[in-house]
Amino acid sequence: MKTMTGLEHSASSVQVGIPAAILKPKKVRRRLDMTLWEKLYVAEIVRGLVVTSKHFFINMIGFIFPPAGKKRKVFTVYYPEEKLTLPPAYRGRPVLVADAAGEAKCVACGLCEKMCPAHAISIVAAEKAPGERYPERYTLDLGRCVYCGYCEEVCPKEAIVMSDEYQGLAQRDRSRLVFEKEQLLRPEGKVKARLTYVRRIYSKWNY
Ligand code: SF4
Ligand code: SF4
Repeated sequence: MKTMTGLEHSASSVQVGIPAAILKPKKVRRRLDMTLWEKLYVAEIVRGLVVTSKHFFINMIGFIFPPAGKKRKVFTVYYPEEKLTLPPAYRGRPVLVADAAGEAKCVACGLCEKMCPAHAISIVAAEKAPGERYPERYTLDLGRCVYCGYCEEVCPKEAIVMSDEYQGLAQRDRSRLVFEKEQLLRPEGKVKARLTYVRRIYSKWNY
């Protein structure tokens, strides 16, 4: 059987009515055609520096002499002196919810540990009384966590939630990102906004 060459393919394409302009596109100007001046990018670098410097000085002047009684024109947040109030949809560091007695609401069912795609959670379960489990040890490796929120979603006791905490998560030593139960416990009032939010979204999704 005779095979078709590329040219023959083109010819048969013409026969089925593909416009000639598509088969023979206009000459495209390649980047290699740039002049030496264009290749040096001097003008672009200077333009970029002007924009960066302009923003730097406007921000600095606005910080040193904030306009009294007026809303600032510059929208940069002067972190860490200023901090944004984050919306409840924000997924920061997962934390354990404490009950009124300050104990973890977690019943050590192990669902979050199983569900976690990053294997960031490890739990050692124990029993307070027959059939009453609690996490003797609950370890969360935030160096592995991908902040997906699956642990929060799967927990039947609302015992783990994504908080609005983001500080202290940049460390040189990864071992400092491993948190134990005692470091993860937060009173329910502190994560109330997030709990209200997740109840609303999960009920909307008909979980
Ligand atoms: S947020 Fe995701 S990755 Fe992080 S501990 Fe929970 S399930 Fe694991
Ligand atoms: S899913 Fe909830 S109750 Fe179960 S082990 Fe995890 S935090 Fe505890």
